[in-house]
Amino acid sequence: MEQDSAALDRAHQRAVDWLAGLGHRPVPPQASVEEVAAALGSELPETGTDAPEVVDLLAEACDPGLTAMPSGRFFGFVIGGTHPAALAADWLVSAWDQNCGLRRLTPAHSAVEDITSGWLLDLLGLPPQCAVGFVTGATMANFTGLAAGRDAVLRRAGWDVAEHGLTGGPRVRVLVGAERHDTVDLALRYLGLGLPEPVAVDDQGRVLADALQDALEAGTGEPTVVVLQAGNVHSGAFDPFPETIAAAHAHDAWVHVDGAFGLWAAASPSYRHLVDGYAAADSWTTDAHKTLNVPYDSGLAIVREPAAVRAAMGMHGAYLIHDDHGEPLDKVPEISRRGRAFPVWAVLRSLGRSGVCDLVDRLCRHATAFAEGLDAIAEATVVNDVVFTQVCATFGSDERTQEVVRRLLEDGTAWMTGSTWRGRGILRISVSNWSTTDDDVARSLDAVRRAVAGL
Ligand SMILES: *Cc1c(COP(=O)(O)O)cnc(C)c1O
Repeated sequence: MEQDSAALDRAHQRAVDWLAGLGHRPVPPQASVEEVAAALGSELPETGTDAPEVVDLLAEACDPGLTAMPSGRFFGFVIGGTHPAALAADWLVSAWDQNCGLRRLTPAHSAVEDITSGWLLDLLGLPPQCAVGFVTGATMANFTGLAAGRDAVLRRAGWDVAEHGLTGGPRVRVLVGAERHDTVDLALRYLGLGLPEPVAVDDQGRVLADALQDALEAGTGEPTVVVLQAGNVHSGAFDPFPETIAAAHAHDAWVHVDGAFGLWAAASPSYRHLVDGYAAADSWTTDAHKTLNVPYDSGLAIVREPAAVRAAMGMHGAYLIHDDHGEPLDKVPEISRRGRAFPVWAVLRSLGRSGVCDLVDRLCRHATAFAEGLDAIAEATVVNDVVFTQVCATFGSDERTQEVVRRLLEDGTAWMTGSTWRGRGILRISVSNWSTTDDDVARSLDAVRRAVAGL
């Protein structure tokens, strides 16, 4: 008990120091893998060390190698911070140490999961009867939704994957936008579906409804899955859902929407139009660890027909205690898992409906401010229509843009990632952190100006 308490006290102090330091430490890490490894020492000790001391050793050695990802000036990839309510609840998750696969084993988590699922579906404007699986992230949410879809379209074609596997069955066609996220391909690979057929997109990366229609018509009645996107990682753009989903359903296809960060547009009346019509799909992916600012790892796999996901993911072991409601483990790939619904509940309970809406609006407002600030820099060109939280810019040639990215990292005020979009080198800004302030945006734009000035 005493060791527990002392170790947690140390961890608490270290965590508070870390969070307090985010305002002034450089955003990029200041030590390499090798330097951190050297500070830790690679020898496995023969004898034990007290838990509080281990916490101190770890925190001390790792600190310089940490990236200030929860900082309000981290704009790389699509990375949320940690809302205080979610972070604190996440500590309890570890202390409580509940294995949350079965209702009767962990009633507290199941109650929270049920309530949270209802809140999520409400906020996202999705049908209340959908199954919500709490998975590790959008990759596994894509995997889960697409597994349900694969099995459902094959079942309609008279083929039971659970019984026969894929070998010898009908081939499943998978149509995806040419600019889908790479994890869609990864999920398809896990599912044994191979490479999907890309559908042409417009200059913002949105699927062209006519191209999808043509691709569907070119089919000969094969079982088909269509993957659409809410929130392109470069442009932030959303596929045109009403016409694409209607066309897919007219061909009896399963429609999955990857909205790892974009699904949250639904929570704001100002941005809800971006997801118009998307509630007609069959499954959806989103992350809680991006826009919702829950600590890693937290993704949500949403499937319209609970029976479809249960058919793909459900498991029945003789030694498990099954509940008539269906089990949490029927909605996700894993059996053992941590209490992921607790921190999601905490952030939603803390923000309330209006707070979630404000969060989405604020992220978008900062993205617009970035676009305006970049527009005012003569050398910079914003190359996407900034409709949501993503901003992409070029600075003349690819070489000059790469140089700006390099200098920004060296400067350390902010983290923005370099990327390639539509064949050009770009600087990519993703506003995903609840704590980003107007001042963070202003300081980050100053850093861009400094990087450009020296070119
Ligand atoms: C981030 C992202 C993913 C992958 O999410 P993880 O949580 O990292 O697994 C998938 N799709 C889109 C659109 C994303 O932005």
